[in-house]
Amino acid sequence: MIVIEPHDISRALHHGEFLPHFQPIVHLRTGQLYGFELLARWNHPRRGPVAPQEFIPQAERDGWIGELTHELMRQAFPVLARLSPSCKLAVNISPLRLRAQDLPRQICDLGAASGFALQRLILEVTESALMDDVEQSRSVAAQLKEMGCHLALDDFGTGYSSLSHLQALPFDELKVDRSFVQRMTQQRDSRKIVAAVVGLGQSLGLTTVAEGVETQEQVEMLLWLGCELGQGWHYGRPAPAAELPAIVAALEQSATFDAAKNLAGRPSFSLDGLPAQRLSHLQAVYDSAPVGLAFLDRELRYRDINRRLANLNGHPVADHIGRTVAEMLPEIFPVLEPYLRRALSGESVSGIEMPWDLPEPNPVKDIVFSYEPARDEADEIVGVSVAVIDVTRLKRAEEDRRTSEEHFRNMMELLPQIPWVLDPDGRALDVSRRWLALSGMSGEDWRGFGWLTALHPDDVQPTLDIMHHSIQTGEPMDAHYRVRPKGSDWIWVHARGSARRDEKGNIQLWYGSLEAVPRPVHIQP
Ligand code: C2E
Ligand code: CA
Ligand code: CA
Repeated sequence: MIVIEPHDISRALHHGEFLPHFQPIVHLRTGQLYGFELLARWNHPRRGPVAPQEFIPQAERDGWIGELTHELMRQAFPVLARLSPSCKLAVNISPLRLRAQDLPRQICDLGAASGFALQRLILEVTESALMDDVEQSRSVAAQLKEMGCHLALDDFGTGYSSLSHLQALPFDELKVDRSFVQRMTQQRDSRKIVAAVVGLGQSLGLTTVAEGVETQEQVEMLLWLGCELGQGWHYGRPAPAAELPAIVAALEQSATFDAAKNLAGRPSFSLDGLPAQRLSHLQAVYDSAPVGLAFLDRELRYRDINRRLANLNGHPVADHIGRTVAEMLPEIFPVLEPYLRRALSGESVSGIEMPWDLPEPNPVKDIVFSYEPARDEADEIVGVSVAVIDVTRLKRAEEDRRTSEEHFRNMMELLPQIPWVLDPDGRALDVSRRWLALSGMSGEDWRGFGWLTALHPDDVQPTLDIMHHSIQTGEPMDAHYRVRPKGSDWIWVHARGSARRDEKGNIQLWYGSLEAVPRPVHIQP
């Protein structure tokens, strides 16, 4: 830190050596300008530009921070007054200043003198500012709010972070410290902190601003987390007043492009909903789903479960939370575990059918389940998403159908007649297996028009004629023809069938039967 002499300061303050710089703050979703943060720069005649870390601490300690802030706002307000009225200005207020009773009056006068509306002013306070004498800060903050100013809690997550600070003053914004934002794409913990801060801000109704945004990757992750505003080199470095019109124009140009790009990569279920809203919407769907659903963490503990799955498992919802699958379902865990491990290693396991052998009186006997690896914003697997369907009744109905079909088939085989089914054009769809013995055919050769090849050559055309007549008129079929059982002579059969129609009268199928008969009387030998 440089050594600053008192005469240095008075010269600097009165000769305009302290200059406001402005860094854009933008809407992450659209890239549109939200406002500027005012950052102090000292244009030292001998040393050149001096960074704020070098003189702000001293200004606070030696008591000239109030004068400095006043000087910067005096220069900055007219600059902003010339920009669009929607463009905000964020000003850093040091801890001491927030307790100074003259601050509201000073700001009010500066606003009036420059024509800058105080509804556009955001005062950024660091957490340390709130450490002591909250009462006094509270009264100053209340006056500032009364004047229309907004309050932001700066550098949230660093220093003396405490949730009670959030309640100490009526904040409107929460600024996530750049240290988290910058590590967020590499470090899981930082990502979790950003996610938690954004979520916290949302649930308290605060606007969240991410600081130190340097890459598009960070923009995308922040959007995914539901953060609204961003500030950082990705959008622009702090710049002097003269450069503002150019910065505004450039941001306006790229905003439309950014909006299209950012929206293209968004999850499709909601473009506008914030995560908190999406969450309550999803929760409602989750609870009412006709499917058992749960989320397991990496240790296979239930983090969330809906009522339907809790019922399938045979325990209340509350008993599951925090317990492992092994604890909840000891009987079948050994069967489930390999599938769960596969999901944890990134494989999606779907549509697995298995018996659900839980102790009586659980009425569920069969289930179909899917395990899907659940990933976070950085594609890391954080758990398993479980979906389970009870198929007991379906399976039972299927079994019943199969048994009754078997009964029916067995019965049919006992009849002297051989039943058959043709489609509306005369193609065979089904026939009793006894047809094979009778006709000498094998396998499925009878399908379609294949059955005609078993007929005596002289009988094919007359049979076709009868069939065509029936197909055209809908009248019952009645035909005699010869077939030859294996190793035997030609025998006569009598085939009869009638049409089954749909409600519009169109023929759907032909049902019929045939049986061996002595040579018909009307046919000459
Ligand atoms: P701050 O309020 O957190 O301001 C943001 C700082 O992050 C600024 O540093 C800014 O230049 C820097 N920054 C912005 N975007 C990026 C980025 O993408 N990457 C990186 N690495 N840095 C970025 P600056 O201007 O040096 O200010 C440092 C601190 O000094 C400020 O931190 C603030 O606490 C204090 N300060 C600056 N001006 C004033 C002032 O007028 N009054 C008071 N009380 N404090 C001030
Ligand atoms: Ca700040
Ligand atoms: Ca900050």
